[in-house]
Amino acid sequence: MSSTAASLLVQGYEVVIGFETHTQLTTQSKIFSRASTAFGAEPNTQASSVDFALPGALPVMNKGAVQRAIEFGLAVNGHIAESSVFARKNYFYPDLPKGYQISQFEIPVVQGGVVEFFLDGEKKSVRLVRAHLEEDAGKSLHEDFIGMSGIDLNRAGTPLLEIVTEPDMRSTAEAVAYAKELHKIVTWIGICDGNMQEGSFRCDANVSVRKPGAPLGTRREIKNLNSFKFMQHAMDYEVRWQINEIEEGRAVQQATVLFNPDTGETRAMRTKEDAADYRYFPDPDLPPLMIGRDWVEKTRAEMSELPRVMAARFVKDYGLPEYDAGQLTQSNAFASYFERVARASEEPKIAANWMMGEMQAKLNKAQLTIDEVQISPAVLAGLIKRVRDETITNKAAREVLEEIWNSQRWTVTADMKQTYSAKGPETISADTAPVDAIIEAKGLKSMNDNGALEKIIDDVLAANAKNVAEFRAGNAKAFNALVGQAMKATQGKANPAQVNALLKKKLG
Ligand code: ADP
Ligand code: MG
Repeated sequence: MSSTAASLLVQGYEVVIGFETHTQLTTQSKIFSRASTAFGAEPNTQASSVDFALPGALPVMNKGAVQRAIEFGLAVNGHIAESSVFARKNYFYPDLPKGYQISQFEIPVVQGGVVEFFLDGEKKSVRLVRAHLEEDAGKSLHEDFIGMSGIDLNRAGTPLLEIVTEPDMRSTAEAVAYAKELHKIVTWIGICDGNMQEGSFRCDANVSVRKPGAPLGTRREIKNLNSFKFMQHAMDYEVRWQINEIEEGRAVQQATVLFNPDTGETRAMRTKEDAADYRYFPDPDLPPLMIGRDWVEKTRAEMSELPRVMAARFVKDYGLPEYDAGQLTQSNAFASYFERVARASEEPKIAANWMMGEMQAKLNKAQLTIDEVQISPAVLAGLIKRVRDETITNKAAREVLEEIWNSQRWTVTADMKQTYSAKGPETISADTAPVDAIIEAKGLKSMNDNGALEKIIDDVLAANAKNVAEFRAGNAKAFNALVGQAMKATQGKANPAQVNALLKKKLG
């Protein structure tokens, strides 16, 4: 075992984690009925006879859900089963009027696969066991103010893809990084909207601990983690709790637990059922799901470039650090915006810096995503051009961007909304016109006329004889003071490097 693995031990125990994630698929209608999947409707207005489990109502497979399962399988390099089977998972609960959930058990649609990501600069791969299609259950609503409970079947039959990993993760940080990467993949390929608050991406974390080299410990499964922050807290608490149990001589019992964000604790809600308790058997109402090779190959040909592949291309084509490539591929829209700016400005690294720095900060502050911003990448490229040709300083450029951001008047042109292909976006040309107009209106043009600057510097040297003398006496700080004075005299419009050079020349 490598030294990094050893250093991950918590109080001498190794942490083992496996994830089961329910991703809600982005189909318009349900997995076996034509009712809508839209979130937030009045209770029971989006449920059909199939979802209500009326006698005689039969399920019909939604092709769009299968399409999305294929896309996921391809994205994680899994095997797409040519034939998979739907089964009935039998249990009784008020929000499940049929008395069983239709799921896939023995033969899932996606088998195997791998999710890869970087954690603290180290490459990790988590193997997937499977991804299977299933229907969601309804919801119990407890109306405390009238002392009654009701059932809402709007969510019943919503298509889910449940993605199951091997117990490959060895720290809670690695597990969160896996969940983030998985979230990125499913939203990137567009099979899930990723909205965790609305329950579109729900993770169950299976956690156990063991002494290094010992067989796997008994796991407890923390259900329904729907924020990355809670996920981390819940697993950290669970690890400490299990170690404490073992240290005090008690055995961990396999159980399903819930995390309470208010107390920060996990608590057992039931002992874990075994597969046998569910009395799985193939659903006689649904024939096996058949997926021909041509369907898979057609899907493969139409899929956009995946985040990790794109990040590798950014490193290779634009000479960017791996870190930058990771940041820039945070979403498909962000990556594609960056790439347009990079190509139009012909300055990929500077474009990367503006995207990760100023643009990201502005997006965070306004709580917007890049595709909600009405600034054309051509204009940001124009701004970069004006910095590079020394029309404006970096400081002035930030002022220009602020102005553009606030006015949002340099509205989206066709170049922003075009769809993304595997070769990256079409190359557009930089648009400097709006930038030039602001530079003009606000008088931000740099003072890079050597003659004018020299005159100012002469004045500064004359007025600061004390600093000049100190510099000559060997005080380096005095030089910086002179640069500061000169920059001030130009109202920040001079290029600091040019001021530096001129001062050095004059002082000999
Ligand atoms: P079930 O179907 O009963 O939930 P599985 O064997 O399918 O059980 O495992 C469910 C999840 O639990 C998987 O993600 C798997 O990797 C994980 N897992 C299994 N054993 C352990 C263990 N000892 N510690 C941590 N995770 C585990
Ligand atoms: Mg399970």
